[in-house]
Amino acid sequence: MMMTDDALTKPHPTRPPSVDRLLSVPETAGLIARFGRPFVAANLREVLDEARERHARGDGAEVFAVDTLLSRLAERLESRARPALRPVFNLTGTVLHTNLGRAPLPEEAINAVAAAARGASNLEYDLARGRRGDRDDLIVELIRELTGAEAATVVNNNAAAVLLMLNTLALRKEVVVSRGELVEIGGAFRVPDVMSRAGAKLREVGTTNRTHAFDFEQAITPRTALLLKVHTSNYAVQGFTSRVPEAQLAAIAHGAGLPFAVDLGSGTFIDLERFGLPHEPTVQEALAAGADLVTFSGDKLLGGPQAGIIVGGRELVARIKKNPLKRALRCDKMTLAALEAVLRLYRDPERLTERLPTLRLLARSEGDILACAQRLLPAVRAALTGRAEVSLEPCQSQIGSGALPVERLPSLALALRPPVRGKGEGRALQQLEADLRALPVPVIGRIEAGALRLDLRCLDDEDGLLAQLAHLEKRP
Ligand SMILES: *Cc1c(COP(=O)(O)O)cnc(C)c1O
Repeated sequence: MMMTDDALTKPHPTRPPSVDRLLSVPETAGLIARFGRPFVAANLREVLDEARERHARGDGAEVFAVDTLLSRLAERLESRARPALRPVFNLTGTVLHTNLGRAPLPEEAINAVAAAARGASNLEYDLARGRRGDRDDLIVELIRELTGAEAATVVNNNAAAVLLMLNTLALRKEVVVSRGELVEIGGAFRVPDVMSRAGAKLREVGTTNRTHAFDFEQAITPRTALLLKVHTSNYAVQGFTSRVPEAQLAAIAHGAGLPFAVDLGSGTFIDLERFGLPHEPTVQEALAAGADLVTFSGDKLLGGPQAGIIVGGRELVARIKKNPLKRALRCDKMTLAALEAVLRLYRDPERLTERLPTLRLLARSEGDILACAQRLLPAVRAALTGRAEVSLEPCQSQIGSGALPVERLPSLALALRPPVRGKGEGRALQQLEADLRALPVPVIGRIEAGALRLDLRCLDDEDGLLAQLAHLEKRP
């Protein structure tokens, strides 16, 4: 270090060097080039304040040593320069994890997003006629082709789709829903609350476990706007239950001259049974049963970007599109680009499990997961020597995001158990969990029955995970 200033060269000054002096030492030049002078200066001031506080609290004058200050500064800048939204390894066992961003997109969609993001596009421009177009038109034909629906429109997410549909068709009127279907999804989306924000009045009928056709019939009055069926996405009513089939609900609604709408939540276009998964109601089934409108998410089982899709009759969809709220709830070009690319893949259902990550992960065989586990086990064991025993254990993955809430997919997990028993065991587990979360690409597992479980169903990038293990070894 080439420094002439006394304050910098003295090993233990009692006051920190000034901001200007620290900014002018050669070590800082690299930081300034990378992060910009104002940002470096602002962070340096905070580092100095911190050092003064430590000193005031009794730490020795070594807190003012230039090397210490500069390494704190570099650390701080690095951590603040890291994007807030970062990739993680989802080893929770929940394939469509809402908190972890739901569906991973296929390469085709990622490329389409990049192309749309990079420059101008025909987002709302009709290239054939050379005049203003409608962004929905970019994908409506595809949606019609895949679902057989007369018309479609797309908004920001399914919550928006439901809100827009209710606000358009049921403002200041009543919507009849079964008591067994008053769903709450992930805290923020609750059917009764969305209903009231949409300006519609909820008319709940039947009981929690049983609702009959006559419940609906008796609830219809001149103030009724529509009959709504909500897919009970994240729970199951079992035991002494009864619900009215969709076709019958449609008949009751149509008999009274009313539309029948279905909020499918996690809508899919293909029968999941073909991949060995349990059946989940499809969009086509809801339409075939007589639904006039069906709403569903883009980023649940469909495997696309966050979006809400409304399909149904031409006139109803046209009314929905005219609602001024549509403008507030529309999705952006990157979403439309991704959605179009994902929908195209559905033209070839045979290859979907290869090409669509969500379905590939859901349909992943136990043999494939086992092979992955066996490749990882020795390296993970070695990296965690002394910190955790690692064993391979069967576990149960779930689909998540409100699809097939009680069904489980057999899978395999690396079970990590710290060698601490009794008191301190819980804390050791949490520490281990925190260390995995602190990796450059955080690893998110699930603590269950005294072990931190890493469900390998959703692990795609094995090499990426292995490359990080060295960071764990370094820790005490
Ligand atoms: C998930 C879900 C919603 C909300 O969909 P988002 O796309 O998350 O906004 C609404 N209704 C049902 C039945 C759902 O399962």
